[in-house]
Amino acid sequence: MILFRTKAELARFAAETKRSGKVIGLVPTMGYLHAGHMSLVDTARARADVVIVTLFVNPTQFGPTEDLDRYPRDFERDKKMCEEHKVDVLFAPDTHEMYASDSSTWIEELDLAKPLCGASRPAFYRGVTTVVGKLFHLAQPDFACFGLKDAQQCFVIERMVRDLDFQVEIVPCPLVRDEDGLALSSRNRYLSADERKRALSIHQALVAGRKTLEEKGFSALDEICRTAINSITAAGGRVDYVEGLDRATMKAPTAESREILLAAAVFFGTTRLIDNELVQVK
Ligand code: AMP
Repeated sequence: MILFRTKAELARFAAETKRSGKVIGLVPTMGYLHAGHMSLVDTARARADVVIVTLFVNPTQFGPTEDLDRYPRDFERDKKMCEEHKVDVLFAPDTHEMYASDSSTWIEELDLAKPLCGASRPAFYRGVTTVVGKLFHLAQPDFACFGLKDAQQCFVIERMVRDLDFQVEIVPCPLVRDEDGLALSSRNRYLSADERKRALSIHQALVAGRKTLEEKGFSALDEICRTAINSITAAGGRVDYVEGLDRATMKAPTAESREILLAAAVFFGTTRLIDNELVQVK
């Protein structure tokens, strides 16, 4: 595995790889890797000649009061995991390498990014689309893998790719959970044993919501979200949102809706966790 710390090295490598006609698969991450990330890497490995993983805790997607400084990091462990999963290139730049100090240009998606995490974290998606756009320019991937753990993020990036004509296929990958149902997340390491147990209420509430949604249809969404909020609150969570939106529009479902994203963001202690269920409309 080759480690690159600079954009110039990555760009040169990608240009040479493209010239030789090889397929490049990209997996952007913020590191502190777990089985969720590695499922994306394995998907990329199965399809690409050259797999590039990026590891960058992107400051522009954190708000001023959020957890940028304490975001978990373990470079040596991440590097070892990438080697074990047959990654070809690990790109791990620092902030000064990634952004000029007077950087003033953004990529901003203004529709799908509005609700859910976009409403509670106003700078978040602008930071995500900007850094992902930069990574696409540098790594020139044929495809890039994104996890449905962050379903709204995946849809926002698909829209960015369509609207700005990036020649990149977006490959959405299934959400990976721990055996007990908790969605894997780098932030799970912030949780105490007690909080972790209580946090299982998120998945349980969303699964119950899915069941009711499948039985009663989206006219029951208000009731479904209320019930989910009550059960998560009873388990000690502070609910940021539980909402059901049309996956295609990120707006309230209509008769045309084919798939509903039932999504939740919840604080346990100071840790904000997100989870979701994608539900087909019958
Ligand atoms: P992050 O490092 O949290 O920014 O995540 C990097 C990529 O891994 C994103 O595309 C995430 O959606 C994906 N990812 C994170 N956790 C999971 C998970 N539990 N299951 C599937 N994909 C995940």
